[in-house]
Amino acid sequence: MNNPFENAQKQIEKVTKHLKIDKDILEQLMWPQRILEVHFPVEMDDGSKRMFTGFRSQHNNARGPYKGGIRFHPNVSKDEVMALSTWMTWKCAVAGIPYGGGKGGVIVDPNILSKTELERLSRGYIRAIARFIGDQVDVPAPDVNTDGQIMAWMLDEYEKLVGHKSPGVLTGKPIALGGSLGREEATGRGGVHVLRQLAKKLGRDPSKTKIAVQGFGNVGYWFAQLAYKMGFKVVAVSDSKGGIVSESGLKPKDVMEYKLTTGSVVGYPKTKKVSNEELLLLEVDVLVPAALESVITKENAKGVRAKIIIEMANGPITPEADEILVNKSVILMPDILANSGGVSVSYFEWCQNLSGYYWSEEEVNQKLERLMVEAFENIWSTMQTKKLDGRTAAYVLAVDRVAKAMELKG
Ligand code: NAD
Repeated sequence: MNNPFENAQKQIEKVTKHLKIDKDILEQLMWPQRILEVHFPVEMDDGSKRMFTGFRSQHNNARGPYKGGIRFHPNVSKDEVMALSTWMTWKCAVAGIPYGGGKGGVIVDPNILSKTELERLSRGYIRAIARFIGDQVDVPAPDVNTDGQIMAWMLDEYEKLVGHKSPGVLTGKPIALGGSLGREEATGRGGVHVLRQLAKKLGRDPSKTKIAVQGFGNVGYWFAQLAYKMGFKVVAVSDSKGGIVSESGLKPKDVMEYKLTTGSVVGYPKTKKVSNEELLLLEVDVLVPAALESVITKENAKGVRAKIIIEMANGPITPEADEILVNKSVILMPDILANSGGVSVSYFEWCQNLSGYYWSEEEVNQKLERLMVEAFENIWSTMQTKKLDGRTAAYVLAVDRVAKAMELKG
């Protein structure tokens, strides 16, 4: 299997030929500035103690504090968090928000822990890394298997350690503890702004633009629902149990109500069932992978019929598949642009925490739209002027911004 960190490094090498950047700076960008590996004990419910291993990778902070989630998963590894922290540097730079890149994780299957064990694990991890985070240092957030409750425990533990309120040290908090309105749908909403801008550039009529969305969770649902409200035609959606197709178009909100009662989108009335693999190959205009990584590979890329792909999941296309799609002239809006709405609203949460002044949902949504439209326009013009595909253009823009900040600092 590919080493994710080696992939992250290769991506940097790939864009260097399009940039005039000092060699030393590029060399620095190839590595995280700091990687913490922590081993800490957690008391189990039976009174025994178990040791856990966690990581926090801080890739680059030239543009602002490190920013990125914390995941709880058995497959967490040092290489994985190093790669993810590198991608966060690029995502924050593309979004134009004043953050660097970070990522953390604990090697654990949280499903086998009780709620009290999970709380002690969350507190133990944050104690272990507390000296190295802070609202102006490194700002973690939820990721795979972590949520607002876990952020609340971590915040409480952190504030006890430092002895004062510090809501801006973590984002993705519940509203009652300083979370932002509009965060839940932010990633999907950001992706739909990218879709709308792209459709305008291509002169596409939304009502004649057919969309298939793989994954009907937080990101996929909000993307589908908001695209539908904007007049696009969502013809297929899926979850882990399979997918459904309706040539006349779906109403995502109704499909979600069905899923909430039956456990899956599959079986929704007047639709045809398809597998997740088949969904990727449907005759649609826009394909939106919004579930897992590496679903479009060199094996199935040739069969993809959509002319536009909006990457809402992180890393849904392998590097080999990427090349095949670019050669087929598929227009690809990369993850570091398309799903940056989530981290952008995390940034808004942090701004609100630091100022102690909280915004209405409408204000959050307006500010998100402005950020996403600007990020899209910058990448679109880089694509046109440098004749680059969407992903390369996004990386060129991101690496250039980070390198400039480093150069200015001397
Ligand atoms: P989620 O858990 O809410 O939803 C995931 C969905 O994918 C579920 O509907 C699930 O049934 C479906 N799924 C699982 N296995 C599948 C399979 N084999 N085929 C098709 N569907 C499958 O997760 P989410 O928060 O919506 O995240 C989805 C993706 O978006 C992930 O790659 C995540 O890293 C990325 N992402 C999320 C955010 C965010 O704000 N939530 C931000 C940036 C990127």
